[in-house]
Amino acid sequence: MIIYWLTGAVLGVIIIIWYLRRFQYHSVPGESQDHAGHDKLAAPEEKHIACPLVYNGSELHFSDKVLDHVLTKHFSFYNHLLDIDKERFLTRLRKFIATKVFVIHDGKGYREMPILISASAVQLTFGLKKYLLSHFHIIQIFPEAFVGLEPFRILIGNVTGNTINIAWKQFLEGYKNKYELQNVGLHEMAHALYYQNFETSLYVDKEFRDSFQKFNSIGDKIYHVEKILTIGLYSEYAIKDFQEFWAESIEIYFKSPDRLQLHYPELYNALCDILNQDPLNYPHHLFSQD
Ligand SMILES: [Zn+2]
Repeated sequence: MIIYWLTGAVLGVIIIIWYLRRFQYHSVPGESQDHAGHDKLAAPEEKHIACPLVYNGSELHFSDKVLDHVLTKHFSFYNHLLDIDKERFLTRLRKFIATKVFVIHDGKGYREMPILISASAVQLTFGLKKYLLSHFHIIQIFPEAFVGLEPFRILIGNVTGNTINIAWKQFLEGYKNKYELQNVGLHEMAHALYYQNFETSLYVDKEFRDSFQKFNSIGDKIYHVEKILTIGLYSEYAIKDFQEFWAESIEIYFKSPDRLQLHYPELYNALCDILNQDPLNYPHHLFSQD
């Protein structure tokens, strides 16, 4: 019996060592040299990479100067903040990065990847007290659309288990293109925030859960109106599934708050209450400091 047990234990250790050796650990990713937009993808021959790059967020130690530089260049939400809120954003961003492991499925990792993807989570939760999305330890970054299994489908982002998966090309487009409502970063962070509060028991934010009832009641009416007569804010995908309706509402709320307020003022106000933010009235409606 003991021999069986020992053999099992030894086999277990061998499997763990083999699994860990599949990953290459790297310290700090460099700045992208692609000044045109940081969305340069791997050369075709580099596309099938056996070993992803793994960065432990607690070892990245980006300075405030680096974080400020990257955000100023690419993240308009940050550029619109008052100095006091910029400081708060940087503090939250540093803490968020330190709690995650970033797995990059590409030949080269850029520092913009962990910084900007984390920044989209900090943007969504900036008015909330609990902002670390602690249920999610791992953020996987794919150069572009990737294959999801069970069911088999092509994805640009999804949330599964303890992992948030994002396609980098589409992530950048979401922030660069001001005229499209899509933003896959905010979309997946919205799913993650919901999942953590309603599908897990740890890390629940009671205030968020309580105020979310407003979205359920007001959103549900609009969801059914949109099913009959869409006004072009939501995709067909969003009006088939209430969870997708929530995630797309978040995209519209940040990317085109004026249109959301114009067409669905009650929904806009409910999202302001739930997230404790007001994109149309900042800085007159300041964030409450914690
Ligand atoms: Zn979705």
